[in-house]
Amino acid sequence: MENTKFIKVVCPACGQQVEAVVRDDRIKGYCTTARQYVNYLVETKMEKKDYRQDPEYRTKLRAATKKMWQDPEYRDKQRAALKKKGMKTKF
Ligand SMILES: [Zn+2]
Repeated sequence: MENTKFIKVVCPACGQQVEAVVRDDRIKGYCTTARQYVNYLVETKMEKKDYRQDPEYRTKLRAATKKMWQDPEYRDKQRAALKKKGMKTKF
């Protein structure tokens, strides 16, 4: 099969490297130590990328921050903290 290739994956059960087959968007391996199949979606491999660069994450974060700042109590706390910081840096 042209879509098939072999890679080494870390078995979540025992932490050892096992041989796995990549087919389409799935990684399938078998660990002889744990005697269980090691299945991954290829997507899980992409978690390594910096999530802060993820536009979806950034949108969510921005929305969450906006929501927080809509809370007057939070706003006052942040302002007070900034003031304190500003005073400290003057010395
Ligand atoms: Zn294992």
